[in-house]
Amino acid sequence: MAVIRVRTTKHTSFVNITSQVREVVKSSGVNSGICVIYVPHTTACVFINEGADPDVVKDIAYSVEKLIPWNDSYAHGEGNSAAHIRSAIIGNSRVIPIENGELLLGTWESIFLAEFDGPRERKVVVKVIKEE
Ligand code: ZN
Repeated sequence: MAVIRVRTTKHTSFVNITSQVREVVKSSGVNSGICVIYVPHTTACVFINEGADPDVVKDIAYSVEKLIPWNDSYAHGEGNSAAHIRSAIIGNSRVIPIENGELLLGTWESIFLAEFDGPRERKVVVKVIKEE
């Protein structure tokens, strides 16, 4: 198991962690298996989408803000309910198959840590499991 540490710099930001995850897979030596990516936080999460055009994640951030606005009549006293809801909907983990020692990501796909209540120091747990 490996832990990638990400220092986010904004309140809301999507950080491309693909190269760090690839590095974990490479150093595991696993040729065929799966890679589990898990974010142990309640106001950050992980998703896979286009990494080639930065406007795509900008549009995702824009739409998440519209769907789940920061200010609304939420109950949670900490004042960051929107961050909890956004993370709950997007999800805390992803699984990617590994074949020939490589993640089977699509050509345009990247892995993003989504920060919704930064800036903070975040952890991403990466577990590489070998196919028997
Ligand atoms: Zn909270």
